[in-house]
Parts: sequence; C-alpha cells; structure tokens
Amino acid sequence: MKFADLQLHSIFSDGTFTPAELVAAAKDAGLDCIALTDHDTVDGVEETERLCNAAGIELVAGCELTADFTLERRSREVHILGLFINPADEEFRRALGLYKRARAARVDSMIGKLNELGVPLTRDHVMEQADPRCALGRLHVGRALVAQKFVSDADEAFARYLGFRRPAWVAKYRVSVADTASLIHRAGGVAILAHPGIVPRSGMDEFIPQLVAQGLDGIEVWHTKHTPAQSGNYKALAERLGCLITGGSDCHGYAKGKVLIGSVKLPYEYVERAREAAEKISASRVGGSLANDKR
Ligand code: AMP
Ligand code: ZN
Ligand code: FE
Repeated sequence: MKFADLQLHSIFSDGTFTPAELVAAAKDAGLDCIALTDHDTVDGVEETERLCNAAGIELVAGCELTADFTLERRSREVHILGLFINPADEEFRRALGLYKRARAARVDSMIGKLNELGVPLTRDHVMEQADPRCALGRLHVGRALVAQKFVSDADEAFARYLGFRRPAWVAKYRVSVADTASLIHRAGGVAILAHPGIVPRSGMDEFIPQLVAQGLDGIEVWHTKHTPAQSGNYKALAERLGCLITGGSDCHGYAKGKVLIGSVKLPYEYVERAREAAEKISASRVGGSLANDKR
C-alpha cells in the first residue's frame, strides 16, 4: 500500500527543514507522496520537486492560505490548503507576493508591540530564525523570543505575546473563503479546509457545511491534532457532503519541538481522487477561457 502526507512546511515558510531535509525525512518515514504546503508561498516547490524526483517520491505542489470566514458579522480565520496548484500561475504568484509582503509588515508591527511591552526584540533577531526567501510568520517571532531567552519555548511565546488577542498579536491580512477557493481553482488546484479541529480555534464544526458551500472541495480529515473521534466525524461529514478527504501531519521540522512528518499516513487512493478533481478543475478552466476568447 502507498501512503502520503499532504501537509508539510519548509524553510520557505515557518518550518526548519530545507527541501533536502524534508525529502530525506519523507524517505525515512516511508512516504510515497508528500505535499509541500508552505504558508502563502510556492517558492519551495521547484527545488522540492527536483529532490523528490531523484528520491522516487511524488510531490504535490501546494500551499496553505489564511482566509476570512464572516459569520453573523464576526470575522474568523480559517486555513485553506491549495493542492495540485500550478506553481507558475502568474495570478496566483501575484496574490501570494501580496500576502508575503503583508506578512513582513505584520511581523514589524508585532516587533513594535513587543518593544512597547519592554521586550527589546529586533528585526535582526527574527531574521536569524528565518530564511531570507521565506514568508515570515508568528512562529519566526516566537522562535526569536526563545533564542533571545525572553521566553522558554514557543508555547510560552504564543501564550504570553503572540497568540490570538495577546498583547503583541496583530491581525493577518486575509480574503474571503470564496475568493481564496476561487484563486486556488484558477491556479488549477483543489481547496481543502485545513485542520477543522483547530481552525485555528476549535468550535467551528457546525459551520463546516457552510464553509464547503463557499467553494471548498474537501476536508483535511486526518491531522496531528485531531483525535481519532474527530477524524471519524470529519470523514463521515466529508462523505455526506460528497467532498474530498485528505490528511497531513503539519510538520514544521523542529520549529515546534517534535518532527511530525509521517505521523499521519494518508492512503494513496485519496491522493488520486484529489488529483482527478484538480484535473477536472483545470480542464473546465481551459474550456472557460476558450469560451471567453471566442466572445
Ligand atoms: P501565522 O500564519 O504567522 O499567524 O503563524 C501561524 C503559525 O504559528 C502556524 O504554523 C501555527 O501552527 C503556529 N502556532 C500557533 N500557535 C502556536 C503555539 N501555541 N505554539 C507553536 N506554534 C503555534
Ligand atoms: Zn506553519
Ligand atoms: Fe494551519
């Protein structure tokens, strides 16, 4: 039987693994297929694909986007995986470029807030934890706080400063679920609701059908932080809604302490179904633009 892990981060976002380290770890974990799903970037895909080809592992090009889900006039954050993305798609790259710049500006605001709180963290401290090409995020700030000994671990960094509504928290730039799904579709990918059990807070289960109705193609059923009971419920829900099923470890290398790659092993049949769905989306895209050209 073949297995996949469809949520993995690298140094191109807030993971600690280089593409080479990621592929080596995938090999050690006995995976046949992996998806690179860095936050707001596909810049690591090319190098990872080359290394995967050499290692006999299949790479699914992906990313993890942050979207806004407004419910009863309250705005919430949800994470959406784009899988089988065409990493060369110009419109997609332009949008990600904007998100990446917004991330850098957000990190600067967080540093400003920390300084006001009397924590003398600098941008240089943060950049010591980050590859210069990466999409910056809170975890880089968290790791810098640990490295400078302002906190003892990343959990404390989030609990004291960086977590939702903590004193150095800054809202992230984000667009609606429908627009995010449509952006992913236009780049040939499928849009999957990431880790619904922690999206990024719990308590969203009853809204999943509404989210899916806004353009999502599937649900990440298996995730490191889902209990077996949660995964069972999400699988039944995905089947009821007739949507795709995926799973991933959400490994960030050593960034969160433990290396998680391979702790979720998705049976390969689900990868095939997702690929078929992505191919259908791409085919209808081609049809659509031809129809437009004729007009
Ligand atoms: P951002 O996209 O910049 O908001 O950063 C989100 C990243 O921070 C994701 O990789 C999360 O998994 C990570 N994160 C959120 N809360 C924590 C926490 N308590 N400890 C470690 N990492 C966290
Ligand atoms: Zn991450
Ligand atoms: Fe996420």
